[in-house]
Amino acid sequence: MADLSAGHQWIDGRRRSALAGDAAPRHDVVDPSTGERVETAALAGPADVDAAVAAAVSAQADWGRATPGERSSAMLRLAAELDAAAEDLAQTETSQTGKPIRLSREFDVPGTIDNTAFFAGAARLLEGRATGEYSPDHTSSVRREPLGVVGSIAPWNYPLQMAAWKVLPAIAAGNAIVLKPSELTPLTALMMAEAAQRAGIPDGVVNVLTGAGQGAGEHLVSHPDVAMVSFTGSSAVGQRVMALASASAKRVHLELGGKAPFVVFDDADLEAAVHGAVAGALINTGQDCTAATRAIVHRSLFDAFVAGVADLMTAVRLGDPRDEATDQGPLISRTHQERVAAHVERARAAGAKIVCGGAVPGGALARGAYYEPTLVSGVDASAAIWRDEVFGPVLVAVPFDTDDEAIALANDTVYGLAASAWTRDVVRAARATREIQAGCVWVNDHIPIVSEMPHGGVKASGFGKDMSAYSLEEYTSIKHVMTDVTGVARKPWHRTVFSTP
Ligand code: NAD
Repeated sequence: MADLSAGHQWIDGRRRSALAGDAAPRHDVVDPSTGERVETAALAGPADVDAAVAAAVSAQADWGRATPGERSSAMLRLAAELDAAAEDLAQTETSQTGKPIRLSREFDVPGTIDNTAFFAGAARLLEGRATGEYSPDHTSSVRREPLGVVGSIAPWNYPLQMAAWKVLPAIAAGNAIVLKPSELTPLTALMMAEAAQRAGIPDGVVNVLTGAGQGAGEHLVSHPDVAMVSFTGSSAVGQRVMALASASAKRVHLELGGKAPFVVFDDADLEAAVHGAVAGALINTGQDCTAATRAIVHRSLFDAFVAGVADLMTAVRLGDPRDEATDQGPLISRTHQERVAAHVERARAAGAKIVCGGAVPGGALARGAYYEPTLVSGVDASAAIWRDEVFGPVLVAVPFDTDDEAIALANDTVYGLAASAWTRDVVRAARATREIQAGCVWVNDHIPIVSEMPHGGVKASGFGKDMSAYSLEEYTSIKHVMTDVTGVARKPWHRTVFSTP
């Protein structure tokens, strides 16, 4: 694990403690599988934000002038550094989040390395449309330029990947960044920043602040020298961030909550749908913005689907996240465990059927923030558990009779991040992918992502894309350059303003 004893602020290529010293609020990073403290951070305040933004402003000038090839080479070295630190990153990610080590090793860390390699390549592919004479008297061209300093705020569910999704496109396009990870899980973002320095990315290009949302976060998104705010987190905080950023008309990119529908048509492969639903609902203990949360299942398959999901959920092994045999770790914190339990208890009290799970496990697991994999049925579309983001290992299933009804149920949500359709009928699949309102629709799968393809939502799930070339473009501004090619002093168009010869 990285030695962060010198402090939890990474500013201008140095680990520092918070500038407020003893007056800075303290925050314990806790292993949620045991409740034990991993590290204690002194949290950043406004002075730390100002220092990080100043370092970023100063570093960006040269970094923005580096050629794409130079930026790309440094990012390829970063990919190699992350690869060399892969096991350390996986262990640290598991310690601060409680996610099973298999997930850290096989998804979070390799996904981050692949993202780094992808953006290293993409840095060299930024180009405009054709340069040409759109007026006979001028040549027009387009320059894609970095914005300057990006202020980013990330959540705790995939701390390393969220840091990667924010940092990589921003720096590939020639920006500098100040990233504020969640104060619950800052450690792997700090390790990534240290790896960037070892890779030769200049100091000040990547800065990481460990701070609270209402302290460091609000100061960062309001800072006059921050040109763009890129936020991933809950819809409520995203709206607050957007309001703060609007005061200085900053560009805003929001990746917010989700409540993904999982639509099983009557011709679906039932075994595939059952396995897909359990994997899609329980990944990362359900703390995934794209997790399958609303199973919409044709009535002819409903009972078999519910029985199959309950059987598989009951077989899921909860345990020590460091054990390779563990399928599901704890939730992120006791507070979140209480929140998830309260959602299920409200549903139970309102008459929902808890088909399996629905409890905090006892025994050895009682010291961690565990919650059982839970399947809920017997609710209608007005139920809170059907409408609200639970962000835990909880799947709700409802039956439908017609395809029209299934699509309407899928879209009956304020969110629009991800969805899946399960069918062997190509026409049904085509209809579902066209009509379901979401940033991603999978067919016969749910969850996989790739660096080349965009991730981002519609409706209350936000706007803007992470990963892919689309994301890179969002971290640039487009400048039109129009050059006179006549060389004459008296341009023909001047007669629209004055008519003297
Ligand atoms: P959150 O909104 O509580 O916090 C996200 C980040 O915002 C944290 O770093 C937090 O410190 C900061 N923050 C909190 N209040 C702030 C404020 N007033 N000003 C500025 N920053 C502030 O979310 P969370 O609980 O960390 O993460 C879970 C949420 O993230 C879920 O809603 C989930 O769906 C969403 N999420 C979305 C995506 C996506 O790609 N769309 C990915 C992962 C998580």
